[in-house]
Amino acid sequence: MSERLTKTAVVVGGGPVGCLAALSLARRGWKVDVYEARPDLREPASKKNTQLRSINLAISHRGLAAIQVIDPLAAQRFLQTVIPMKGRMIHDANCSLVSQLYDKDGQCINSIDRALLNESLLDQVSSAPNIRVFFKHKVQLVDFDKKTMTVLDVESGTPVSVGFDLCVGADGSYSVIRRQMMKVVRMDFQQEYLRDEYIEFKMPAGRGIAGEPVFLLDPGHLHIWPRHSFMFIALPNQARDKSFTCTLFAPAAVLDGLGDRVIFLSWFKTHFRDAFELIGEDSLVAAWTQNPRSPLICTKVSCRHSGGYVEMAERWKYLQSNPYHHLDRAILLGDAAHSMVPFYGQGLNCGLEDVRVLDTLLGEAQVEATAPAGLAPGTVDGRLAAALARYSESRHDDLIAICDLAMANYLEMRHSVTTPVYIFRKALDKL
Ligand code: FAD
Repeated sequence: MSERLTKTAVVVGGGPVGCLAALSLARRGWKVDVYEARPDLREPASKKNTQLRSINLAISHRGLAAIQVIDPLAAQRFLQTVIPMKGRMIHDANCSLVSQLYDKDGQCINSIDRALLNESLLDQVSSAPNIRVFFKHKVQLVDFDKKTMTVLDVESGTPVSVGFDLCVGADGSYSVIRRQMMKVVRMDFQQEYLRDEYIEFKMPAGRGIAGEPVFLLDPGHLHIWPRHSFMFIALPNQARDKSFTCTLFAPAAVLDGLGDRVIFLSWFKTHFRDAFELIGEDSLVAAWTQNPRSPLICTKVSCRHSGGYVEMAERWKYLQSNPYHHLDRAILLGDAAHSMVPFYGQGLNCGLEDVRVLDTLLGEAQVEATAPAGLAPGTVDGRLAAALARYSESRHDDLIAICDLAMANYLEMRHSVTTPVYIFRKALDKL
């Protein structure tokens, strides 16, 4: 009997999706190497750097279920750190509040600290015996025929060549793996910048009767200040901190016009008076002058067909020419495949779901984590290739749809939630 060797999966990107993908493949017996361009975000120096952009996220059942399937213990731990938000709280211009529940049966989305989520997943990855993580290693080039990639050791400046059986591109919106795959796969790609940008603020905790920290707003809601062409939102932070992370979304042209501290404060006070008082002038100015203004981008791989009726033959052609994978050797997951605007709170949830779907398909296809020694790089693992093709086929419509829904939800959040028809419909839902 010929000797069998354990196959190597290289996961590019140590973000939440890359970490969950690494855990999934390791659980299936693969040897996994994770290459992450940035330093380990659990190191104190990195923590300091990420604080300027510490986005908290809304994680929903979709994301939690994916973690639950791959790593039930991690899922349990996350649930202890989340803050359930049962609805959105609309703050109108007169500072009146209206609660709009997400679900009449009490289902919630959950606020979670993004760094905490990524750190916990990295802890799981680092403790798995068959996963190695290489921080400060940036993937530059991939040769899919030879199944090798060039990785830059950022510290020493030395490029190294590493081999793989499967390359998982989980390297985010500006994915290098996607760019490399587009040279060898008939893969369509679409990128759109929104007219809007965002900037983060922090609403500190208040003080209770005994001086203990308390939330200044109800933590059971996602707070929205919809102002039609722009909006401000706030999500509660972990229970012990009791602050809110707030985000201002507005057209770049509007933000450009607020350059001066005085103009900015006056504009902010006019539109978000209650938030102005809760955050305070100093904190507002500090965030406005120090925090980065970031663009919003929507990217879609494999985007030519966006749902609706398509004949089977046509559909097959689309699938042939619009995959997320390449043969048995590469696949794009998470933001690398679909970077959606954040208004539906589903970008990460959907990326985690990508991993769950792939994990299920690898199981169903009985893909093996070993291969006979001495196989030529050109040999295709039929089962793996079929599982990856099935992934592209089954995932396509959902991914395109959720990107479109996310875009549509911006109008809903900044405008439609204030319209009488919407409020009436929500009131009917409660009956
Ligand atoms: P990333 O988190 O971008 O990770 C990619 C990793 O790859 C990074 O660590 C990067 O350093 C590394 N990398 C990149 N290039 C290379 C390379 N060449 N070599 C090695 N490593 C590389 N989603 C939700 O579900 N709910 C929300 O409420 C929500 N809110 C959001 C709010 C805002 C303002 C924004 C901007 C996004 C929000 N999202 C939300 C989306 C969510 O942040 C992303 O979908 C999620 O982070 C994607 O995870 P990822 O692991 O695919 O990519």
